[in-house]
Amino acid sequence: MIPYKHEPFTDFSIDKNRNDYLEGLKTVEAYLGQDYPLIIGGERVTTDDKIVSFNPANKEEIIGRVSKSNRDLAEKAMQSADEAFKTWKKVKPEVRADVLFRAAAIIRRRKHEFSALLTKEAGKPWNEADADTAEAIDFLEYYGRQMLEMKDGRPMESRPGEYNRYDYIPLGVGVVISPWNFAFAIMAGTTVAAMVAGNTVLLKPASTTPVVAYKFIEVLEEAGMPKGVVNYIPGPGSEVGDYLVDHPNTRFISFTGSKEVGLRIAERSSKVNEGQIWMKRLIAEMGGKNTMVIDSDGDLELAAQSIVKSAFGFSGQKCSAGSRAVIVEDAYDQVLERVIELTKELTIGDPVDQNNYMGPVIDGNSYKKIMDYIEIGKGEGRLVAGGDGDDSKGFFVNPTVFADLDPKARIMQEEIFGPVVGLMKAKDFKEAIDIANNTEYGLTGGVITNNREHLEYAREEFHVGNLYFNRGCTGAIVGYQSFGGFNMSGTDSKAGGPDYIALHMQAKTTSEMF
Ligand code: NAD
Repeated sequence: MIPYKHEPFTDFSIDKNRNDYLEGLKTVEAYLGQDYPLIIGGERVTTDDKIVSFNPANKEEIIGRVSKSNRDLAEKAMQSADEAFKTWKKVKPEVRADVLFRAAAIIRRRKHEFSALLTKEAGKPWNEADADTAEAIDFLEYYGRQMLEMKDGRPMESRPGEYNRYDYIPLGVGVVISPWNFAFAIMAGTTVAAMVAGNTVLLKPASTTPVVAYKFIEVLEEAGMPKGVVNYIPGPGSEVGDYLVDHPNTRFISFTGSKEVGLRIAERSSKVNEGQIWMKRLIAEMGGKNTMVIDSDGDLELAAQSIVKSAFGFSGQKCSAGSRAVIVEDAYDQVLERVIELTKELTIGDPVDQNNYMGPVIDGNSYKKIMDYIEIGKGEGRLVAGGDGDDSKGFFVNPTVFADLDPKARIMQEEIFGPVVGLMKAKDFKEAIDIANNTEYGLTGGVITNNREHLEYAREEFHVGNLYFNRGCTGAIVGYQSFGGFNMSGTDSKAGGPDYIALHMQAKTTSEMF
């Protein structure tokens, strides 16, 4: 087996790559507006009620109309997943992993089509879409290999005349609930981790990006996934989500999304319902309020570049986005000035145009929420860039910078999930780290400094799941920077890490005497 290496990012300055992407776009444009059914037990189920997925850069353009699951269909899907579990759990781990490897190969061949679909359905600029597709491939390649590593369990001590084994066995039916912001990577990664471990899955993708999820299930089918192993049931979170979270046959839930929904799931899933004979396991990866800390003896150009990239990549709609920067006093004016300059250089518009650095935000609700936060920000700090938007054709918010904020300001505490960054001063490095730790979240953080002592101080004291030195705080890579956060950012499951698959399994000890 070839050792795992992450999928390289595409260099779009090369003509061939640019043309390949444009070809992908043509493929996607040819299937825009189609209808998509649910997939339950491998059967296509069409409903009259539809979720309409549209292009956030152009509200008029429909990406697809997707059948909408309800309680009855969710129940049907549960029965099918329960049935499929009886056989899938006995399929050899090598065979399960092969489905992932083959799926990775299929996606690699259709890479630019998938990226172009993400541009259309999620509003991702080319490089962001390319990174999302690459990450989906990485999850398939990495989790397949992780499963192979675990297939014979772990070594145990045995005494003379005794043979002890420690084996991992699957859990059962898992409900996978995914967000729209890594509409491909997180949806695919959370699904296949559960599946390769021998579980069967009910996948409820985000309602804004259901088409890419459908295309992915088709890939799994082509790669040899048996019927009923992953069931595709998009539908309203409040109806389908609650129903499946409460269901006594649900063995585990793998959720990625906001803190509010994550906590609701945590509460509901802890309740034992009639007929339930286990405690449900919950993996919940939630929001962030991530900070770049800038030291006075750091590279200040790198600092400004890192703040801007972390804040505005994919319009700030990454859970890892750096939405606050805390800058040691002596460096504050210089960094602020450069952040303003760099922000004003950013281009914004339809992401099908390769020249646009930023595309739209995902939908009208998100647009409104971000604009409301910008209004709050105007009362809390000094608006120095952006501050406006345009939702006439798509949902565009200009990259926005607020300066001179108080550490307890709402825009320094609450997740905005849009292109808004708040800057503030600290009197020294230690105070900057204290401020960085002052939210309820603990997902990512970045530190720019050339002071070794300060790096070591941050390594110990900056309480986040993913801490980055002398770079921005986004862009974790599967198998390189495993991802997951502390405190209200979730259960720190570390997606793309060596312990992730084990969260979807239970260990069984057997001890035999000879
Ligand atoms: P969201 O919480 O609104 O939705 C996530 C998913 O939950 C969707 O599929 C939604 O339909 C579903 N859902 C809604 N109500 C539900 C309910 N009652 N029961 C079950 N499911 C329900 O989040 P979003 O807007 O899709 O994504 C953005 C959020 O996700 C941000 O907070 C971001 O920080 C977070 N996020 C975290 C990570 C991470 O790894 N920590 C990664 C990506 C996104």
